[in-house]
Amino acid sequence: MTVSSALPLVDLRSDTVTRPTPAMLEAMFAAPVGDDVYDEDPTVRRLEEMAAARFGLEAGLFCPSGTMTNQIAIKAHTEPLSEVICEQTSHIYLWEVGGIAFHSGASVALLPGHRGRVTAAQVEAAIRPENVHYPTTSLISLENTHNRGGGTCYSLDDLRAISDVATRHGIARHLDGARIFNALVATGQRSEDYGQLFDSISVCLSKGMGTPVGSVLLGSAAFIKKCKRIRKVMGGGWRQAGYLAAAGIYALENNVARLADDHRRAARLAAVLQDQPYVAEVLAPETNLVIFRLHESQPAAEFLAALERQGIRASSFGPQWIRFVTHLDVDDAMLARVEAALGALGS
Ligand SMILES: *Cc1c(COP(=O)(O)O)cnc(C)c1O
Repeated sequence: MTVSSALPLVDLRSDTVTRPTPAMLEAMFAAPVGDDVYDEDPTVRRLEEMAAARFGLEAGLFCPSGTMTNQIAIKAHTEPLSEVICEQTSHIYLWEVGGIAFHSGASVALLPGHRGRVTAAQVEAAIRPENVHYPTTSLISLENTHNRGGGTCYSLDDLRAISDVATRHGIARHLDGARIFNALVATGQRSEDYGQLFDSISVCLSKGMGTPVGSVLLGSAAFIKKCKRIRKVMGGGWRQAGYLAAAGIYALENNVARLADDHRRAARLAAVLQDQPYVAEVLAPETNLVIFRLHESQPAAEFLAALERQGIRASSFGPQWIRFVTHLDVDDAMLARVEAALGALGS
């Protein structure tokens, strides 16, 4: 496919597509490392301690992916014949290859959410009563921000209400916080408060945070010790991972506050889309994800191809639904190009 100019590609498919900056690469090159399976990598330890402290939890476990941190946590919190409660479009259910059944042999109770968010009343109603016919409810897992919901955020009050229900029923609480920093920046919530609300949190460092790879699982020291064995059996024990952990430390120190720029650009894209005759509906963005639906008269494949010709890439998110994601490698000049391309398509 030919691109109309030599301008850099504007890749709006995901916030995972970012490349490390020279400053991040320098931090990686300079990292002291050791064998992490022997607990001897000082940079991995530093990242794990730093991330845990930030969220008010005791310990951390650095892993290659958010799928791995989620699935390890679910395995550690559940046993076969038990059940996980989650929203029906949550990443752990929809986009992790059915890993809950594969790794944990657990059942799943799906709740219909409002743009991915569920309520304490829904969670309470899904908890199984004691009965030989039923699995035992072992875990509630939430997602913040919610990907499929369009980057939506929970309020602290709603999280507290769900946490209270879980605590009252003796159920563990996990957070898929792949984009938790987007939620914190958008709402002004404090990360330290999350340690009270969840027994475990999965945090991605390669989503909008700019690292090439890595997620951290956070929890109590005893929980993380158990998780480390599960990571090992999944083949996730790694050695001089400090080079990657150094990128994570750099991201935590430098790339959090700037997420507000991504949110501003997402809001701008949503406003431009709203004005286009070929757009039927735009989900109001709360963070860096913009999900919108094209009119039936505008085939999605053609729309994506027209953008591609302008050097702009986006992804299909279901029939007629498109997702734009803003991130570290999308600047204001690129935003202007996207605006111009969207306007030209509508005229
Ligand atoms: C991306 C993502 C993950 C983890 O994805 P990996 O590609 O395995 O790192 C988990 N949860 C949500 C909500 C995500 O968007």
